[in-house]
Amino acid sequence: MASELAIKGGPKAVQTPVGDMFTWPIITEEDEQAVLDVLRTGRMSAWDVTLEFEKEFAAWHGVTHALAFNTGTAALQAAFFACGLGYRDELIGPSMTYWASCLPAFTLGATIVFAETDPETLCIDPKDIEHRITKRTKVIVAVHYAGHPCEMDAIMDIAKRHGVKVVEDVSHAHGGLYKGRLLGTIGHVGAMSIMSGKALPAGEGGMLITNDARIWQRATAFGHYERTAEVLKGTAWERFAGLPMGACKNRMHQCSSAVGRVQLRHYRDRMVEIQKAMNYFWDLLEGVPGLRAHRPSRNSGSTMGGWYAPHGIYRAEEIGSLPIDTFVEAVNAEGVNIHAGANLLMHLHPVLNELDVYGHGKPTRLANATRDVLQPKGSLPRTETIPTGCFSIPWFKHYRPRIIEEHALAFRKVCLNAKELL
Ligand SMILES: *Cc1c(COP(=O)(O)O)cnc(C)c1O
Repeated sequence: MASELAIKGGPKAVQTPVGDMFTWPIITEEDEQAVLDVLRTGRMSAWDVTLEFEKEFAAWHGVTHALAFNTGTAALQAAFFACGLGYRDELIGPSMTYWASCLPAFTLGATIVFAETDPETLCIDPKDIEHRITKRTKVIVAVHYAGHPCEMDAIMDIAKRHGVKVVEDVSHAHGGLYKGRLLGTIGHVGAMSIMSGKALPAGEGGMLITNDARIWQRATAFGHYERTAEVLKGTAWERFAGLPMGACKNRMHQCSSAVGRVQLRHYRDRMVEIQKAMNYFWDLLEGVPGLRAHRPSRNSGSTMGGWYAPHGIYRAEEIGSLPIDTFVEAVNAEGVNIHAGANLLMHLHPVLNELDVYGHGKPTRLANATRDVLQPKGSLPRTETIPTGCFSIPWFKHYRPRIIEEHALAFRKVCLNAKELL
């Protein structure tokens, strides 16, 4: 094995041109044709293509309802509303996530309580949820972070005992499995982004899936005003039809629906190839000190879906406490492009601690809260280790062993020669 690190003037581990290995989304003439059909008939703001997309999305998941949105953020906001999250209520979620997993709670007059994230799974720790539940808790958000499924059995058990709804944020894990079940179908409702960077890329867009007709009706009522007459017919809310209860306009752009339908048709095949490539990468690094794969164990029946934003777990103590920034710099010198850490920690951000969005005269986080829910630095000690406890890894879209082997070599070289960097 080449032992001279590139950062010390040695040859780079990655020598083969990567070509379209990382190109995403994969857009073909089929996508182009679908968009042209929408444009040429002027149906950008109609919803006929969207209804077809919803039908196909629901069928894929084996659920009764799918509802399309113009963003994943809007899908999550409507899901929270549909679960009854409102004035003075509390939502429990992970601090390390994309902001849309929690922040829409503020628009509903609710507040946010963070539970610890497990530094191994990068998902909410079910053991840190229950003691945070109060009479005000309406929703637990399970974000399948970087594709890794949350421990849904434990989360559903807690939710059931306390009468709380579970929203799965599937934005990182389309098509992923938890013990053989599709993510997004285990909680009361699944909501997800399908913007162009995600594993299932439609353009700007979001999707909500559920088997609960009431949740579907409420989610529709929030911002799909043009569909409320049909959806609310025969319900207690029938007379409110015609206007959106959330004052939002959530309809999906039909160019997104059209692309989404084509992408969905190819998603299974593309996802399987990504899984083969990513699992091969981690198999090559099995046993290398300093690193742990971020994936469920084999034979668990759980998978990483399309491996969106894949990460690895860093164990500095196994390689002489090499600082993660030095590790990342040395790996990147080998011809790789990674970064330390993952999403910002929400509980430490000033928007969650100081900002008075609506003029309540105090931070919005506390504006309607019935108790002090602020969580200062030090309050989530395990979560706070994560920015230096994980790193991004290449997101291979194709199973091309040689390129994957060269990338794995970059990590192996750095870890086995960490002494040279201390
Ligand atoms: C991308 C993302 C969202 C928001 O989706 P948009 O389509 O960008 O609005 C929500 N949650 C998570 C975890 C995400 O990564």
